[in-house]
Amino acid sequence: MDFIKTALEPSKFSDKAYFFVFSGHNILVKEEPDNFVSIPCIEEKVLAQMKLNGICFFGKVKNLSCYCGRITPENIPDKYKMINLRALYGKIDNGFWSIAGYARQICDWNMNFKFCGRCGAQTKTKKDEHARVCPKCNLISYPRISPAIITAVVKDKQILLGRGVNFPDKKMFSVLAGFVEPGEALEDCVKREIFEESGIKVKNIQYVKSQSWPFPDSLMIGFTAEYESGELSIDSQELAEAGWFKSDNLPIVPGKQTLAGELIEWFVQNHS
Ligand SMILES: [Zn+2]
Repeated sequence: MDFIKTALEPSKFSDKAYFFVFSGHNILVKEEPDNFVSIPCIEEKVLAQMKLNGICFFGKVKNLSCYCGRITPENIPDKYKMINLRALYGKIDNGFWSIAGYARQICDWNMNFKFCGRCGAQTKTKKDEHARVCPKCNLISYPRISPAIITAVVKDKQILLGRGVNFPDKKMFSVLAGFVEPGEALEDCVKREIFEESGIKVKNIQYVKSQSWPFPDSLMIGFTAEYESGELSIDSQELAEAGWFKSDNLPIVPGKQTLAGELIEWFVQNHS
């Protein structure tokens, strides 16, 4: 997918452009034959009917401009519908799904940072990059990213999985994760989060890969680690239950499109 990120908006609106339009956790899609959907590529005429709020240019794909914005449900045109952004995975090209995640973060950030956090004045869009500037005190704010570690902890061919108290699926388990705190190295965060949530100390922490996770603004940083010591003792504020699982006896776990799912798949491939 040939996507170019830029804040430099073309001076003229071309015939049509891609619109990544949100309402709550949902994104606007166009209905296509055979149950498929697509990101709307919209002409100016249709755009006027949608009455979008907070429209922001954020890049180009296939040489067409990309905009994000918000819609109120009564303005959704015929043959379009809203779909949960997570549920969109697998229904459109993966490249477009990634762009949709980026669009969601730019859209949310523009809405949430309309006012300067230091002096309270109304901020303005910076023309040459994705940033908002306070005209009164010159504070510049950039789109917020919240880094979080996620770790597959392994002990004797078993993986540590927990069921978060806030998981929507009450049967789903996943590898443990948590947000990085100021002043903390990623490896220290892995040790702290795993210990706080499960009472387990880990060693041999290895970086695997990272994944942007726009729900709402996370960067997931994936690790593997080995059990060092301790007995399972869960933090009931974070986890409803946790346990050690063998690869042939896993509970319901996240799909492979998630970094959690990839880490669990890595465990299965290497510890069966
Ligand atoms: Zn200010």
